[in-house]
Amino acid sequence: MPDLPTLDIDKIASLCKRRGFIFQSSEIYGGLASTWDYGPLGVELKRNIKDSWWNAMVWERDDMVGLDAAILMHPDTWRASGHVETFTDPLVDCLECKRRFREDHLDSETCPECGGELSEPRMFHLMFKTHMGPIEEDASVVYLRPETAQGIFVNFNNVVTSTRKKLPFGIAQIGKAFRNEITTGNFIFRTREFEMMEIEYFVMPGDDEDIHKQWIDDCLSWFEDIGIKRENLRVRQHEMNELSHYAKNTFDIEYKFPWGWGEIQGIANRTDFDLAAHSKMSGERLTYFDNTTNQHVTPYVIEPSAGVDRTFMTVLVDAYSEEETVSTSGKKETRTLLKLEPSIAPVKVAILPLSRNEKLTPLARSVYDMVRRSEAISGHIQFDDAQSIGRRYRRQDEIGTPLCVTVDFDSLDDNAVTIRDRNTMDQIRVNIDSLTSQLSIKLK
Ligand code: ATP
Repeated sequence: MPDLPTLDIDKIASLCKRRGFIFQSSEIYGGLASTWDYGPLGVELKRNIKDSWWNAMVWERDDMVGLDAAILMHPDTWRASGHVETFTDPLVDCLECKRRFREDHLDSETCPECGGELSEPRMFHLMFKTHMGPIEEDASVVYLRPETAQGIFVNFNNVVTSTRKKLPFGIAQIGKAFRNEITTGNFIFRTREFEMMEIEYFVMPGDDEDIHKQWIDDCLSWFEDIGIKRENLRVRQHEMNELSHYAKNTFDIEYKFPWGWGEIQGIANRTDFDLAAHSKMSGERLTYFDNTTNQHVTPYVIEPSAGVDRTFMTVLVDAYSEEETVSTSGKKETRTLLKLEPSIAPVKVAILPLSRNEKLTPLARSVYDMVRRSEAISGHIQFDDAQSIGRRYRRQDEIGTPLCVTVDFDSLDDNAVTIRDRNTMDQIRVNIDSLTSQLSIKLK
């Protein structure tokens, strides 16, 4: 594992492009600043991250349900939530080089690029506006949601009525969000269009502080479950002056990126701010009826909110590794690998016939079909018979495939194949009859 601060993020970006994880959006037109497209391997890794999160946060618990709300919402939503008024960042311009910065991200009082004098800060609104219907007038303004949370709050009554959930319970949602960020960058770390994995967890007022702590532990455990090293994670409590307008207390889970610590998840205590604000604006009572006291209460909300793309970036940085090896001809080589957790690896197993020999191909294809159709192994399985076996191993190492299965000429006689482990490069010979069960054990 290289020392993280020396890991060049461009190396990861170039691996992502070369191997089909992430491409610049609209590249043939010169690209669109800080927007990215997920390629064939990127889409698999992203899906696996989201599936793992859904599994841990919804399916494995009995106090959670899901939701998929619309991106466009009634504009009053954003008035009630406070976004229309306060969802701004302080923008400063360099009077010399004309670059723009977020004032709260600057360490010095002068331009970090040229040392020039900076303008007075002005508040810049982060919500993207568009118009609903054919006429572009003030009355038709709608916003692209800057968080998925509000879709959950406005559906509170619908979910409670349809599921009969009792406090404490939570609603989870994964979806796109848009923020017209002043500065973007560090590859997919800060973009204007991104995906969020959010939970609004409703609790009795008074239980909020203990449950808040529990969520921090649960969220840290999930990041560890998807393979992120604990020593590269930390929890940071917000200072009073950085708390959002709705928050009583917030903790960020941060990761040690090559450029420093950066937030990957915020876990806020939003109190009853949102339900109370929407009740007031809409005139609908958004409360919970407590049978034990026969009273209506407005629940408090603990909100763990993580970015899918930032988690993606985190797993790549954390898994990226370069190792010195010696080739079969005795030459020193650098092996690049992504030590991804099997549960999120974009390709679980690669089936590699030693060569394209016509005797080997049918057996290799039948092994491929068997593994692909096996109920014991779920996920993407690849077949690759192009180029030398050494190059194919290197390719699979670079995309993080945990296991390769090599079908060679001996396989024709002994009905056995070789399983190669990505991390150790150890190889074991197994009978084809037990292959899928061996693979499924190793992928656990
Ligand atoms: P920051 O201070 O970095 O702007 P924030 O505190 O505004 O972030 P939250 O509103 O807490 O961010 O968003 C929750 C999560 O959504 C973040 O932890 C991050 O993972 C993700 N996220 C927020 N903004 C962006 C963005 N512009 N690009 C990618 N992911 C983002």
